[in-house]
Amino acid sequence: MSTDPVDYRFLRYESLEAGTIIRITLARPEARNAQNRGLLVELEDAFGRAEFDDEVRVVILAGAGGSFSAGHDLGSAQSRAEMDGPEPHPSYAGDGATLGGAEARTRQEWRYYFENTKRWRNLRKITLAQVHGNVLSAGLMLAWACDLIVAAEGTLFADVVGTRLGMCGLEYFGHPWEFGPRKAKELLLTGDAITAEDAYGLGMVSKVFPADDLAERTLDFARRIAQVPSMAALLVKESVNQSVDAMGFSNALNSCFTIHELNHAHWSEISKGEVYYGTSEYGLVDWRHAPGIPRADPHAS
Ligand code: ZN
Repeated sequence: MSTDPVDYRFLRYESLEAGTIIRITLARPEARNAQNRGLLVELEDAFGRAEFDDEVRVVILAGAGGSFSAGHDLGSAQSRAEMDGPEPHPSYAGDGATLGGAEARTRQEWRYYFENTKRWRNLRKITLAQVHGNVLSAGLMLAWACDLIVAAEGTLFADVVGTRLGMCGLEYFGHPWEFGPRKAKELLLTGDAITAEDAYGLGMVSKVFPADDLAERTLDFARRIAQVPSMAALLVKESVNQSVDAMGFSNALNSCFTIHELNHAHWSEISKGEVYYGTSEYGLVDWRHAPGIPRADPHAS
């Protein structure tokens, strides 16, 4: 793989600190960095590019505009054009997309939502998610795939797929590991958000910085981590990842991916193939007009 500068359409890729730190920025601010297929495929390339480069110690994943990421792109013009033309994304020519029934969706989601996220989690570099604004649903997957998460004050984290789409969670079901089992159930059943401070309390977030200083303070933090000898850094990562794998993390992810696909198949069966998640027709609030996301509050029902 070449390490030449590259122009991505949906990302920015910057080399900082004499090439020891790479900053990848999701760059669809007009869509609150919703993840369309082109963005996800570029992200795989960008992470791979940073992984290949022996100078790189730390990879920062950030988002342009008002929010880190609003989740998967379920219907922008860009996303529809990738699926149905006029600019079909080449990834829809295979990986199951030409097959029928649940197989198409299962193979596509495995490749573009699940396996890629697991691969990023195991990237051979230390990864640092720099989040702000809203981190919603599949936005959580991108943050969770990173080794460390730093957040701006005011960041909200929520998975709204239970309440808005009638889904049991995300393809990469990190929820019980990140929130704790009971909190995971609460947040999925209510769609409530936790704050950066709440996430800090859970151990999910390492630092909470003022929003105006987020990029600079994150870079300071990354510089510290970049000082650790690369072999030690890799083995710290690998020791922790293998420990949680021994606790069942990766097997649980595999199991829950299958459960997630069952939930899609349910909606597809109910709707006779019209939709693969719940809609307002089935009693859910239309996510395009849904009210703001409430904060999880111990004193409010
Ligand atoms: Zn899905």
